Amino acid sequence: MGWPGVLRAIWENQMPRKDFTPLGGRMERTMATIVEYTDQKAPQNFYPERIVSPPHSGPCCFSDMEEIGTSQEEGRWVYQYKRCRKCGFTVRVILREIPDETLVSDLRQILATAFQRNVPD
Ligand SMILES: [Zn+2]
Repeated sequence: MGWPGVLRAIWENQMPRKDFTPLGGRMERTMATIVEYTDQKAPQNFYPERIVSPPHSGPCCFSDMEEIGTSQEEGRWVYQYKRCRKCGFTVRVILREIPDETLVSDLRQILATAFQRNVPD
């Protein structure tokens, strides 16, 4: 996966909202995360238990992100934490979606029949 995909994942799935207000230091997300977004504490890396990240990324984050740990699976997603070397901003980047087996076999069925044309004599 190249950088454009990574950036897209960051912007679409990971960026804290502009109007984001921490509620007791927790952020409601679709998936559980070990990242705590706060500007009340200094950025810390306690991976895999916990990562304290600034609530907002900076210009440095797009050139100085490093991978934390190894890729992990949760539900139907494979993801990896990336953390900025400079400011400590951390995101969970979706690397790929694990295909739904039912969906895949349905798709195979559709593709298999889609190209069967009755050729007129
Ligand atoms: Zn940064």
